[in-house]
Amino acid sequence: MTATSSDLQTCERVKMLVGGRWETGGSPRLGPVYNPSTGRVLAAVPFCTADEVDRAVQAAAEALPAWAETPVVERARVMFRFRDRIAAHAEELAALVTREHGKTLAEARASVQRGIEMVEFACGVPSLIMGQSLANIARNVDCETIRHPVGVCAGITPFNFPVMVPLWMFPVAIACGNTFVLKPSEKVPLSAVRLGELLMDSGLPEGVFNLVHGDRETVDALLTHPLVRAVSFVGSTDVARHVYETGTRNGKRVQAAGGAKNHLIVMPDADLDQAVGAVQLSAFGCAGERCMAGSVAMPVGRVADDLVERLARVAGSMKVGPTDGGAEVDMGPVITREHLDRVAGYLDIGAREGADVVLDGRATVLPDRDGGFLIGPSVLDRVEPGMQVAREEIFGPVLSVIRVDDLDAALAVGRGCPYGNGASIFTRSGWAARQFKQHFNAGMIGINVGVPAPMAWFPFTGWNGSFFGDLHIQGIESIHFYTQQKMTMTRWFESPRESHHDPVWKTGKG
Ligand code: NAD
Repeated sequence: MTATSSDLQTCERVKMLVGGRWETGGSPRLGPVYNPSTGRVLAAVPFCTADEVDRAVQAAAEALPAWAETPVVERARVMFRFRDRIAAHAEELAALVTREHGKTLAEARASVQRGIEMVEFACGVPSLIMGQSLANIARNVDCETIRHPVGVCAGITPFNFPVMVPLWMFPVAIACGNTFVLKPSEKVPLSAVRLGELLMDSGLPEGVFNLVHGDRETVDALLTHPLVRAVSFVGSTDVARHVYETGTRNGKRVQAAGGAKNHLIVMPDADLDQAVGAVQLSAFGCAGERCMAGSVAMPVGRVADDLVERLARVAGSMKVGPTDGGAEVDMGPVITREHLDRVAGYLDIGAREGADVVLDGRATVLPDRDGGFLIGPSVLDRVEPGMQVAREEIFGPVLSVIRVDDLDAALAVGRGCPYGNGASIFTRSGWAARQFKQHFNAGMIGINVGVPAPMAWFPFTGWNGSFFGDLHIQGIESIHFYTQQKMTMTRWFESPRESHHDPVWKTGKG
């Protein structure tokens, strides 16, 4: 059931944070936050007006000078406390992620852990932010670089990782001395509120972190605000492009991670038990709602029949159901009713395009089918590279299988793909793995690993339509994104009192 605006008026409103004060805002525009396991509305999220966004940015700008001047070790200590608070509340956060997103509790726990690692990375800021120096670069001339914060930064995040993706952004930005305005997905704003509370409890000064909610209007208000200096975005490709183009046109530095279509190549010599398990987890983990989900399997040569038969069997035996309350299921719901219909629609599209629907998730036996946004795993075989189901991001539990004759044919499919986030190969051959690593057209490569999502210390290196910008999220590139360098060249001259033969620094006599 879709919530009406009068239903929403009676719901609890999600809070925003401006200049250290939590408020519900005055926006007349509200959106529903669903529990995807039950289809019921958990809360109403206010879509902030441009004035409210302006207040949040102004608060961040006012807090900036003092925070940027705060010694880096003190900023790091706030992050250490924040890390401990998230760890102490990890179970609560995971339950919240499950409630508003729908992924299983095990998946939610893993995503919170990945977020904690990002804060641990930010705790290392004193070493990470150091500049370089070179004495005597010319005679009596020394040169050094130091890293300054860029100013007020904004972060715009997607629905699929309500804790982890916001933690990709603001801990590093804040540790580097910037102030921040976060705009989480309007579908999952509750986890972001809880993160904000834990951050403020960690001793962060008021105004350094601010939280606003909303949709395109809110995002555009941030993208065009003259005081916002840098924008981090994660979401779908069309929106990533819009954010990149609008942000850069308005003079901001932008990193915008987009959608994906990730390929899993299974060579004839692969350990098939291992490959089947990894492809299953990659395609159907988090109900396929991962930018690193393996959504296209490419069996090479004779392995195809066996692989498809085994994948259909294991996927068909997955237990699908509501996840809220920690239910023991293998796969939970997708995010909304509209998204469920969209995912189901791709099964019709695939069938019309000539694919074999060997497993139809619409036929999966589901408990509580009327309430939650549930659909089982699907496998489409004999998909051709030009089909919509091969090229478009479905972002649900649908695996397309493109059969290829050899590795070169698999590489050619990769070259024709408009995205370029991740790809994996399953093989026992070092040569095949090396060819794949060198030549596949994607930024993150897995070898006998289904989801090659990098950990906090390495950048999230999407290519093509999966990333717009220069400096990626995570790792040292994120430190570079959230800082600007200053180079100082110094030359001192001998004063008349300091003779060349008897310099004051040598004798100690002034
Ligand atoms: P989305 O693009 O719909 O929304 C992302 C954010 O942009 C949200 O905060 C939303 O409010 C805002 N937004 C939506 N439409 C907008 C518009 N027209 N103008 C300005 N802002 C707008 O994405 P989603 O559905 O929340 O998340 C799923 C997408 O995110 C998938 O495509 C997935 O691949 C991608 N994703 C990518 C990565 C990555 O690292 N590349 C990681 C996670 C998710």
